[in-house]
Amino acid sequence: MKIAVLADIHANLEALQTVLAHAKAQGVTKYVCLGDIVGYNANPHECMEIVRGLDLLGVVMGNHDAVACGRQSLFGFNPYAAMAAQWTREHLTDEEQTWLAGLPFKQDILIDQPLTRFTIVHASLNQPETWEYVFDSHQANLSMQFQWMPLCFIGHTHAPVAYERSLLETIAGNFDTLRFNPEHKYLINCGSVGQPRDRDPRAAYVTYDLDQGTIQLHRLPYDLTTAQTKIIQAGLPEYCATRLASGR
Ligand code: ZN
Repeated sequence: MKIAVLADIHANLEALQTVLAHAKAQGVTKYVCLGDIVGYNANPHECMEIVRGLDLLGVVMGNHDAVACGRQSLFGFNPYAAMAAQWTREHLTDEEQTWLAGLPFKQDILIDQPLTRFTIVHASLNQPETWEYVFDSHQANLSMQFQWMPLCFIGHTHAPVAYERSLLETIAGNFDTLRFNPEHKYLINCGSVGQPRDRDPRAAYVTYDLDQGTIQLHRLPYDLTTAQTKIIQAGLPEYCATRLASGR
């Protein structure tokens, strides 16, 4: 069985469609979503509809989802993010906002065959509702203090990275394909589908192959020009469009 892990889609329909077509071609049959389905880009409604139609094992709330449904305030948002969040809120139906408001902050996923356990959270297991950023091994350790499963997937920073914890230390590393050491603990940031910020503008997502015990990071070019045009036409901040091209 192969699972696709989707983080920080951020209403980018072109990126999401590209990722899902690729995942299907890879033999993915199940999905998990790490939150921030909406915010920044121009297709919140369409992206929500697609995500809700997937065969989901789990989906958690992101900070942009929390603001878009009115569950949290705009506190901590920069002016661009705040403008986009307000625009998003006006463009979601009441039913969509209710669905977002009902999402958990974290979720444990248990699969029988083969025996697989992992946790999903948007930002950090260290107080998930306060959206702590995990940018280094120290912050990864804070999250892993609350990680009971051998594996946890996160998003939020929009930059893919794997933290591997042994008895001695926690090491951060880039990864293309990651094979598990059963004695270690893993915290994996899956990057962002709809707004990568690691200076690589290609959409990012992860597949988890349960039979092989491997995790693979995928980077895919998508129709960025269309996504940018829609952002401008919608009246969203121009910066939301330009940053897509620079991957920041
Ligand atoms: Zn995000």
